[in-house]
Amino acid sequence: MTNAAGPGAKAGYRPVKTDSLWETTLDNLAGQKIVVLGAGIVGVCVALELQARGGQVTLVDRAEPGSETSFGNAGVISRSSLVPLNNPTLWSKLPRLLTNRTCALRYSLPFILRNPGWAISFLANARREAFNKTATALDALIRLSAPLHLDLLAAAKETGRLNDTGWFFLYRRDADFQKSALALNIYQQFGVQAEILDAPTLQQHEPGLKPIFARAVWVKDCYSVNAPGAVVRAYADLFAARGGEIRKADIREVAKDGDSWRVVTDSSTLSADKVVVALGPWSRKLLESSGMRVPMGYERGYHMHYSGAASGPHPSLTRPVFDVSGGYVLSPMAEGLRLTTGVELTEIDAAPNHAQLNMAEAAAYQAIELGERLDPQPWLGHRPTMPDSRPVIGEAPNRRGLFLAFGHQHIGFSTAPGTARILADLMERKATEIPAAPFAPERFIR
Ligand SMILES: Cc1cc2nc3c(=O)[nH]c(=O)nc-3n(C[C@H](O)[C@H](O)[C@H](O)COP(=O)(O)OP(=O)(O)OC[C@H]3O[C@@H](n4cnc5c(N)ncnc54)[C@H](O)[C@@H]3O)c2cc1C
Repeated sequence: MTNAAGPGAKAGYRPVKTDSLWETTLDNLAGQKIVVLGAGIVGVCVALELQARGGQVTLVDRAEPGSETSFGNAGVISRSSLVPLNNPTLWSKLPRLLTNRTCALRYSLPFILRNPGWAISFLANARREAFNKTATALDALIRLSAPLHLDLLAAAKETGRLNDTGWFFLYRRDADFQKSALALNIYQQFGVQAEILDAPTLQQHEPGLKPIFARAVWVKDCYSVNAPGAVVRAYADLFAARGGEIRKADIREVAKDGDSWRVVTDSSTLSADKVVVALGPWSRKLLESSGMRVPMGYERGYHMHYSGAASGPHPSLTRPVFDVSGGYVLSPMAEGLRLTTGVELTEIDAAPNHAQLNMAEAAAYQAIELGERLDPQPWLGHRPTMPDSRPVIGEAPNRRGLFLAFGHQHIGFSTAPGTARILADLMERKATEIPAAPFAPERFIR
């Protein structure tokens, strides 16, 4: 990866200053054997970055690259994502969310009771001071990542999948729009380019939407891709074309082995100087089996594709939209219109419950000619979320040589390239381009 706000990068993604530590003993990665666990967007970006620094990198996954959480997301890469779900407005929304009947949030009470520490800490992090820290950290990570994504898309010859017309937050009622005041203030404070649209202007931009929206916010510092899974596969192909090894295997254990590390899979045992755990929502299970406690929640989400309008004067949609009042996101994808749902907070392996998707679908039919369902079954993914909504990036405490890169909640597709950049700097014991402390594993992991 090159280090530049590459050609075509939006002005809002300006370089960010670091205040990180500078260690004097550098650890050059050239020639080191490094095993990266997990070939989602995070693992693949980490593998590419370590390879670019001369590491001898093996990427291990039990499935094809980009076929899990990184496959089914909404494909949005936006500076507006600096506002996590646990922000100060959560408190006023809580009574409604706790009814367990909204499109935005479903939860399993047994899951909450089994993970009380996670739930309490998640709520506590919605307080203003904690939220400010998170928004600042995420803003830096998003700004670092987007230009790197552009470089990678160019190198992988995938720029044709990129849309740079931003995305719309849609409000059916003025009262819903008023509740976005905090987000709008934060955008202003952080210099995120956004414009408020009235109903007629929205119709001009997206004539395929039915005239049910009173207002919209157009976030302009935003890109999107029309097939996130295909992008991850192309990045993985790039890694392989540059000499990287991709191994298909089920990872069972990671353990210290003298000065090096041992990765045990169902088919072989790999030895490495350094290991990176980038197993997304499954990172918790592997690390807990090695004696670490990882307070991670699973914000599950569903998607379904639709054919859109069969005929008529208007294209369905030209950019992703978030119907805030309806509680779903709709993105124009290569496969059709992709409807993605809000959060289902439950165990990673709980049986699917399509009630939330059905509710989102009904709301989306009110907003657009959705057409027919295109997939035989809804897709289900698991957003891996730490209590403060910041990913874990860095070396595992007291386990020299074991590095962690997971917990990217709703924004892992956007922030993987920046994660890779920070992690590689930390592995080389170098100064990082943005502050790494907000992402330190020590926040939660002992
Ligand atoms: C509905 C929905 C919408 C979203 N929308 C957006 C969006 O618009 N923009 C955005 O930036 N983000 C979005 N996200 C979040 C984003 O998709 C995730 O943060 C990101 O994909 C996480 O990537 P990852 O590489 O950490 O995990 P994953 O993509 O899940 O990768 C983990 C990999 O580990 C492998 N693995 C697990 N266990 C093992 C094992 N034992 N052995 C071998 N391999 C194993 C899996 O096969 C998988 O390939 C969305 C998520 C959802 C669910």
